[in-house]
Parts: sequence; structure tokens; C-alpha cells
Amino acid sequence: MGAISVMKVYQLIPKTNCKECGRSSCMAFAADLAKGKAKIEECPYLLEAKFSQQRKDLEEYLAPVLGDHETHIEIDGEKCDGCGVCILACPIEARYSEDVMSGKCPKYPLEEHLIFQIYDGKAKLVKLDNCRRLENDAEARNCSICESYCPQEAIKII
Ligand code: SF4
Ligand code: SF4
Ligand code: SF4
Repeated sequence: MGAISVMKVYQLIPKTNCKECGRSSCMAFAADLAKGKAKIEECPYLLEAKFSQQRKDLEEYLAPVLGDHETHIEIDGEKCDGCGVCILACPIEARYSEDVMSGKCPKYPLEEHLIFQIYDGKAKLVKLDNCRRLENDAEARNCSICESYCPQEAIKII
């Protein structure tokens, strides 16, 4: 799936800039919708019958950033050789670990934001809750960097 286009969302909302949704403009509301940070029904006009088609189109277009979602990451223990590339490549690990930012594996014990750790020469998934795929952001939800970077093709994202 490609990124959600703010302009495409904007085209489907009323464009009166009335601010009843609590944003400074319809464009600001469109930007929040595209990031999964607003709900369609926050714009009262989109609940009116005359906007029913636009609402339907918005629900369809924004489906990837609306509602609950799940993800899972499987690591094939037979293929994994413990190289640690998944840890170095993961943007969350890089965002929060000074060790990873400087090109090293993070220190033990487990840091709060870590997702993978290497135990006994194999990568283990330790905290899936930290994965970007569970964030309310269309781009983050599509993250599959660890899967693409794993040299052994040991990671499978479901
Ligand atoms: S309530 Fe709807 S019409 Fe009014 S500013 Fe927000 S998005 Fe635009
Ligand atoms: S990148 Fe792949 S092979 Fe390397 S530790 Fe991670 S899962 Fe294992
Ligand atoms: S999908 Fe992205 S955020 Fe999640 S573990 Fe893999 S690289 Fe990290």
C-alpha cells in the first residue's frame, strides 16, 4: 500500500474551514485523518446525508489507518545466524538506543524500547508492542525493514 495522500483526503471533505472539528482548517483535519490521528465523524458535516458518498470513499481510502490492527513477526530459528542486522536496521531500535545509533548492538539488560534481542546466537522477538506497525500512522504500519534487511531471509512479517 502507498502512503495516504493528504490532498486526496482533502478533496473528500467539505472545505468550509469552519473549525468545528477542532482544527484550524479543513487541510489540517485532512492531514490528521491521513496520519490516523482523527476520526471521520469529528467533522459533523461528513455525517450529513449529502456527504454520504464522500464519507464512504473516505472510509475505504483511510481503511489502512482506521481502527484496530494486528501484526506479527516470525523469526525462523533454523535460518537465523544471529548477525544482529534486524536490530541495527529497525528504526525503533535506532530511535531509542544510543548503542544502535552508533552501530553497535544494544546493551543488556533489555531496554524499554527494544523489539529484538540476540540470545544464544539467535534473534528473539522480545517486545512486539514497540513495533512501528502498531502505530497509528500509515507509513509506520507498512514498515518491513527488518524483513527486507535480514540477510538470511529469516524474518517473516504477518
Ligand atoms: S469540521 Fe469539517 S468542514 Fe469544518 S473545518 Fe473541520 S473538516 Fe472542515
Ligand atoms: S537479521 Fe536475520 S539472521 Fe540476522 S539476527 Fe536478525 S533474524 Fe537473525
Ligand atoms: S517492522 Fe519495522 S519497526 Fe517493526 S521490528 Fe521490523 S524494522 Fe522494527
